[in-house]
Amino acid sequence: MAESDARYRSLFETTPDLVLLMDENGLVVAANASVERILGYKPDDLIGSPLSRIMPERYRAAHDEGFRRYVATRSRKLDWRSIHLPGLAADGREIPLAISFGEFEEDGRLLFTGILRDVTVEKQASDTLEFFSRMGPQLASSSLDYQATLRSIAQLAVPFLADWCAVDVVNSDGKLERLAVAHSDPAKVALARDLESRYPSNPNAAFGVHQVVRSGQTELQSEISRDVLERIAVDGDHLKLIESLGLRSYLIAPIAAHNHIYGAISLVHAESGRCFTDREVPVAEELGRRAGLAVHNASMYQETLDANQLLELQATELQQQTEEAQALTEELEEQTRELIASAEELRQRTEEAATANQAKSDFLATMSHELRTPLNAIGGYVELLEMGLRGPITEEQRTDLNRIRLSQNHLLALINDVLNFAKVDAGRLEYRIQKAALDEILKDCESMVLPQIDDQRISYSYGECREPVFVEADPEKTQQILLNLLSNAIKFTPEGGTLNASCDQTETMGRVHIRDSGIGIEQDKVDAIFEPFVQVNRSFNQPGHGAGLGLAISRSLARAMGGDIVVESQVGAGSTFTLTLPRTSAD
Ligand code: ADP
Repeated sequence: MAESDARYRSLFETTPDLVLLMDENGLVVAANASVERILGYKPDDLIGSPLSRIMPERYRAAHDEGFRRYVATRSRKLDWRSIHLPGLAADGREIPLAISFGEFEEDGRLLFTGILRDVTVEKQASDTLEFFSRMGPQLASSSLDYQATLRSIAQLAVPFLADWCAVDVVNSDGKLERLAVAHSDPAKVALARDLESRYPSNPNAAFGVHQVVRSGQTELQSEISRDVLERIAVDGDHLKLIESLGLRSYLIAPIAAHNHIYGAISLVHAESGRCFTDREVPVAEELGRRAGLAVHNASMYQETLDANQLLELQATELQQQTEEAQALTEELEEQTRELIASAEELRQRTEEAATANQAKSDFLATMSHELRTPLNAIGGYVELLEMGLRGPITEEQRTDLNRIRLSQNHLLALINDVLNFAKVDAGRLEYRIQKAALDEILKDCESMVLPQIDDQRISYSYGECREPVFVEADPEKTQQILLNLLSNAIKFTPEGGTLNASCDQTETMGRVHIRDSGIGIEQDKVDAIFEPFVQVNRSFNQPGHGAGLGLAISRSLARAMGGDIVVESQVGAGSTFTLTLPRTSAD
């Protein structure tokens, strides 16, 4: 007996659980030493008290009643034997307890055992689990509005994890911004907000949210002593205010995910009298991690949205551009159709014009040819009369006959010009293009016009070509052109004037310049003189001199050989006509 008694006493005293012995009335008859460790009572203090004394006020009546019923009925239906209830510690804290009851008889008396186990850690673990599972949907629901998510996290944290919870995030300027403050009492939230705006926390402080965000390290202050408050306070008023909040303990964890710190979550205990210990650090850190993931996911989501929006914008732009391009293509097609139509019209008109031109040239050629026959007859008969074959003629008649012959010759020359022009215009001439020396052709022409020059008493000079100039041209047609230019120069230069002929070359062209000191051509007529039948100064032009076709023919010939004729002239000072023809090398 003694041995067994000692065994049980040892068990009773050493078990970490709180063991109580109660009589039938539910009054404590014995309590082990654990009662002091767990609840802070001396074992003797409880003797004679009902078990409900170590429970919070609100449970006592129900507990006492339940116990009475149990004793009376011994009914186990109530499952009275293993329950979870908070115990009330001597310092007023509530400690979660798992209680199991037993009973035995001793010396004919019914005694009850109550074994009370401190399940703070287990309860915290299961509560934490439940907390995070309640938080899950919050995190998942608002994927974009991370601020709302963080606010509801703060709300969920009170009062379970802490009496206060604050969330600070780093804003786009890199500054910390208080996003949420939560407390079960809204008046206190307002007070805290007011405090924060009046006394913003020092960004350079070596403690608190700024330091946590900087370092990424959780900060635990199990006991907020007066020293700590003084360190935080800016001045006396501030100190009084934060003292009035009755802060006891704080824990600040970084809000971080994927190596990025987004802010900090602060948990503070005050009126509940609870204190944070190392045990809560992982919970706070997990909370920070989850909050960090919420921010991270939101920013990723935002990025995806932005990218999508950008893509949509680009797609719309592309669509617009495509439509514009289509419209442009249609317009172009329309224009092309119009162009084709007008090109066709133009072609028809050109064809018509060519036909008409052809008809005109044919007419001119035929006419000239037809005119020459009677003219030749006139010439023949004049000659007949002059020779006296029809009888003797008087001097006067001879003079008249001479005039008829001159006129006949002149008319013949005019008709030849017209015929020539008609041929050139119709493109019916044949060109014998060959290498030709310009200065030689020029010299041949000179000899033909020298009598005229002498008649006009014009002083003629020939500016020698420095070197022979060779061109690719038909020599006969070149001569025709030069003769025309020379005879024009003589024609339009008054007696005593000067005439100069010279040749030179450019990189690609051989040139002949016929310069006279004649009457010149008005500037606005310079282009017109190359048109057929244009004669600028008729009064100067003696009757019987040309039909205004010489330059038109000459330029057509020059152009047909790949050259041109240009003129520079000044009224009263003279003109310089320049014939250009494509050069060829000397060998
Ligand atoms: P035509 O000499 O038969 O009149 P051209 O075609 O040779 O016909 O010349 C056309 C006109 O150009 C001439 O009538 C004349 O008015 C003007 N012209 C030509 N050469 C000269 C010149 N060297 N000086 C002044 N006027 C000229």
